[in-house]
Amino acid sequence: MISTDVIVIGAGPVGLFAVHQLGIIGLKAEIIDNLNKVGGQCSELYPDKPIYDIPGIPKCTGETLTENLMEQIEPFGSKIHLNERVQEVVKEGTKWKVTTSKQKIFNTSAIIIAGGVGSFEPRKFSLKDSENFEGKSIFYSVKDKSFFENKDICIFGGGDSALDWSIELSKKSKVTLVHRRDEFRGANKSIEIVNKLKKDGKIQVETPYQLESIEGKDKIKSVMIKNEDGKNKKIKADILLGFFGLIMQLGPIANWGLGMDKKTIAVNTENFETNQKGIFAVGDICSYPGKLKLILSGFHETALAARGCFKYARPNEKYRFEFTTTSKSIKKRLGVKNDKQE
Ligand SMILES: Cc1cc2nc3c(=O)[nH]c(=O)nc-3n(C[C@H](O)[C@H](O)[C@H](O)COP(=O)(O)OP(=O)(O)OC[C@H]3O[C@@H](n4cnc5c(N)ncnc54)[C@H](O)[C@@H]3O)c2cc1C
Repeated sequence: MISTDVIVIGAGPVGLFAVHQLGIIGLKAEIIDNLNKVGGQCSELYPDKPIYDIPGIPKCTGETLTENLMEQIEPFGSKIHLNERVQEVVKEGTKWKVTTSKQKIFNTSAIIIAGGVGSFEPRKFSLKDSENFEGKSIFYSVKDKSFFENKDICIFGGGDSALDWSIELSKKSKVTLVHRRDEFRGANKSIEIVNKLKKDGKIQVETPYQLESIEGKDKIKSVMIKNEDGKNKKIKADILLGFFGLIMQLGPIANWGLGMDKKTIAVNTENFETNQKGIFAVGDICSYPGKLKLILSGFHETALAARGCFKYARPNEKYRFEFTTTSKSIKKRLGVKNDKQE
C-alpha cells in the first residue's frame, strides 16, 4: 500500500500541471495513467503539431509542452505509474483507497481526476485483416514524422487530422487522401491547401471512396477502394493512416459514484470538487456551465483544485496564499537556491 496526500488520475497536460500546483503548496502526489507515456492527448494525438494558445508560449508542439511540464514538476519527485488504469476508488474512513489494474493499492487524502476523455482509443478500419498490419503499416496517429518519409501513403478520413497530415506528409511522400464523402469537414484553409496541392498534382484525392480490401502479406502493397456505385480503384500504398476520430471510453470512472453529465464529471467552479468530498475533477473530463475544453482552462482548474485538496491532506493547518516569486517555502520546495543566478 502506497500512502500519499493526493492521487492524480491521468498524466495529460492538466494532470501534470496539477502535480505542480500541489507541489508548490507542499502536498505530495502520485500520478497514474493507463497509457505508456505521459502527455495525454498532446503526446498521443498531436505530438508534432504546434499549439498556439498556451499563455506565455507563442508556439510549441504537444511534445514540447509535455517535456516542459515534466521539467516543471521534476523538483517534487512525484512518482508516475504508467500502463496502469485506475479501476476502483473506495472511501475508507477519512481517506480514499485507490486500486489500479495491476492491483497496486494507494491510500490518499484526496484525488484529482484529470482523465481527459477517459481511456481514448482511435476508431479503426472495420476490415478484419487490418489488425494484422497495425503498428507496422497501418497507423492511427503520427508519432515520428520521419518514419513516414519517402513512402506511398494512403490517408483515410475527412477531418482536420486527415487534411493536416496529408498536407504535411505530401512534402516528402506520395500521398493519396481518401474520404467517404465529397465534402471535407476540416478548416477551410486546410481544404484550400489540399485542393491546390491536388491541382498541382502533388497529392491525389479520392472521394467518395472507402477502403474495400488490403493487398499484401507481411507488408501492404496496395489497397482497393470502392465508391457507393460499386466502382473499384486500386491504389499503390505501403502505409495506411486512418483518422476517423476517437472512441471516448470513460471506463471505470463512470462507476465511482460521481455526478456524471453525459461522459463528463460535474464539478463546482469554486474548487472543482465533485459530489464526493475529496474527489476533484479538472481538464477535459470535468463539466460546469461555460466549460472550455482547452489546456489553459485545465491549468486554471488545477490551481483551485490543489488548494481544495489542502484541507483534506492537512486538516489541522490553514492554507496561506503565497506567490512563487516571493515565497521562501515555495522556493525551497522548488529547490531554488539562489534566485539571482536562476
Ligand atoms: C488534434 C487536437 C488538437 C488540439 N489542439 C489544442 C490547442 O491548440 N489548444 C488547446 O488548449 N487544446 C487543444 N486540444 C485539446 C487538448 O489536447 C485537451 O484539452 C487536453 O489534452 C486535455 O488535457 P487533460 O489532461 O484534461 O486530458 P488528456 O490529455 O485527455 O489526458 C487524460 C489522461 O488520463 C488518462 N486516463 C483516463 N482514464 C484513466 C484511468 N481510469 N486510469 C488511468 N489513467 C486514465 C488517459 O490515458 C490520458 O492520458 C487539442 C486536442 C486535439 C485532439
